[in-house]
Amino acid sequence: MRLSSYIIFVPLEDRDETILVHGISGAVDRVSNEWARNLRMTRWDRFSEQDLEDMLRRGYITRKTVEEERELAIRIGRALRAKAVRSSSFIFMPTLKCNLGCDYCFQNFLRTEANAAPSVDTRMVDAALRAMAALQELRGGRVNRILLFGGEPLLAANRPVLAHLFGKGTDLGYRFDAVTNGTELHHYRDYLGPGILESVQITLDGPQEVHDRQRWARDGQGTYWQIKQNIDMALALGVHISLRMNVGWETRDAIRELVAEFDRYGWLGHRGFSAYCAPIRGKGGQAESTRLQRAVIQLVNEINAAYRPRYGRAVVAMAGGTLRMKIASLLRENLLSALTPAYCGAHLNMFVFAADGAIYTCWEGVGIPSARVGRFWPDLELDEESLNRWFERHSLNIPACQRCRYMFFCSGGCGIHALEHNEDFYSPYCDGFAELFRHHVQQAIAQLTDLDDTPIHHELGYVTE
Ligand code: SF4
Ligand code: SF4
Repeated sequence: MRLSSYIIFVPLEDRDETILVHGISGAVDRVSNEWARNLRMTRWDRFSEQDLEDMLRRGYITRKTVEEERELAIRIGRALRAKAVRSSSFIFMPTLKCNLGCDYCFQNFLRTEANAAPSVDTRMVDAALRAMAALQELRGGRVNRILLFGGEPLLAANRPVLAHLFGKGTDLGYRFDAVTNGTELHHYRDYLGPGILESVQITLDGPQEVHDRQRWARDGQGTYWQIKQNIDMALALGVHISLRMNVGWETRDAIRELVAEFDRYGWLGHRGFSAYCAPIRGKGGQAESTRLQRAVIQLVNEINAAYRPRYGRAVVAMAGGTLRMKIASLLRENLLSALTPAYCGAHLNMFVFAADGAIYTCWEGVGIPSARVGRFWPDLELDEESLNRWFERHSLNIPACQRCRYMFFCSGGCGIHALEHNEDFYSPYCDGFAELFRHHVQQAIAQLTDLDDTPIHHELGYVTE
């Protein structure tokens, strides 16, 4: 008997407790730190027969060899994947143009003078909707949301084309979300709210003077106040706002001040508002990016500790919505959504319909010919070889990931970053995942404890009272 290769220990700060997670079975249990210590040290003599049997059943300990356990993990991964691939998710980029000139934008290369950024017209919208219908037919699974992305998708100049998309799209049963800079959102007032454009992600990088230094309009004007007014308007219309704060080493203090502003605006208590911090990806490689991530996790913890007494919950999250959803599913014992061998949709089921008429699976690939997986304009055509290259990059196909306890949570990391940093698309990109995982589990558990005894398994004989 030995400790499973896929067991994850998450100590809960300030409590004498540890959360056990099994990376393959999806089991979650809360145990005492003493229990966790005995388990780590394989002191089987300190457990009853019943406890050992329970831990065997949940996967924390095993009679399988390392190799047998790895084979089992791969078998389970294949079954999980077979279910997940019968689905699609759609992103539509009506334009690659943008009215801002943020230095850190990964798309800046698309908007050089030599590169006239394209926009779609209504005929291309129709072609994209036809292609979406065909893809659902082909892959199975109904899609009912479209995410708008750009460039800046909600430019005032795009309104006629988007009016066409919203009209036809809602008739077909779609609802919309958007990643927008929020500066021209007021031009879409009549589409905002339940039934059409239901949620938007908007970025503020600090209080006005910090934000305006980073995110300025092409005429040199700052954008903070226009965005602030548009957020107020959208919240009043019932739109969910996901507020992104990009955090670098220099802007950490500004983020504290920004959250204090959200508090003053009444946003933190608004049920349609949520905010998260995203570390800015630096140039220094994985180690540097992990160091910044650690600092941002600490910042998020400190902010939440300051506001939790008033709001009774965390007010700011770490970036990693997908991981957050996976952990929430895990705690609800919804294992099929919790465990996946693919890091993101680009490696599973995502189709990005870009304004150049091409289809990609990753938005960071837009404009790069080798990243195209087909086209929707004038008609749908898929390049199966290219598509497979993207969709087959997952933890089952990366040897180091097959042995990793985060195989179904991290699932190999981002392929684009793996290519950038390791020069190998099919290599692991861990990027401090273990720490991120611990943070999200700790936050989710803190939330559960607020809600009092929402299901965590207690069957390992440990009772909290
Ligand atoms: S491959 Fe990387 S950059 Fe592309 S969508 Fe996935 S996480 Fe984002
Ligand atoms: S990329 Fe790293 S952390 Fe992620 S599954 Fe692979 S080995 Fe594990």
